[in-house]
Formats: sequence, C-alpha cells, structure tokens
Amino acid sequence: MKRGLYVDQEKCIGCGLCVEIAPKVFTLNDEGVCEIIDPTGDEESKIQETINECPTECIGWEDK
Ligand code: SF4
Repeated sequence: MKRGLYVDQEKCIGCGLCVEIAPKVFTLNDEGVCEIIDPTGDEESKIQETINECPTECIGWEDK
C-alpha cells in the first residue's frame, strides 16, 4: 500500500519548522500556511522528523 503525505492546513500555525527540517518537501504559502511541494523531495527520515516535531501535529501519512 502506498502512503501519501498530508498537511492539515486548518491546524497549521505557520511556525515554519517543517520547512526548516525538509525544505524540499514543505513551503509556506502566501497565507503563511504549510503546503507540500514535493512529498519525495527529502529523505523519509526527515519527513518523519517533521511529523514528530510539528507543534500542532498536522502532518501525517495517510493510506492511498
Ligand atoms: Fe505548520 Fe506544522 Fe509545518 Fe509548523 S511544523 S509550519 S505547524 S505544518
């Protein structure tokens, strides 16, 4: 089963931590909310770190 990366933009507070950890995967859009630019842009371990570190726990994997 494939896993897809998601960001719950309703919960994102725009702290920028995920962008710092995995800048090729995440960016902050014009509203200052996290957006996924490339779910495979950085190593999976870095993505996992963003999931663990995001203060509002709004990043995660979902089954596709
Ligand atoms: Fe938003 Fe979480 Fe990224 Fe912070 S770490 S910008 S709250 S998705």
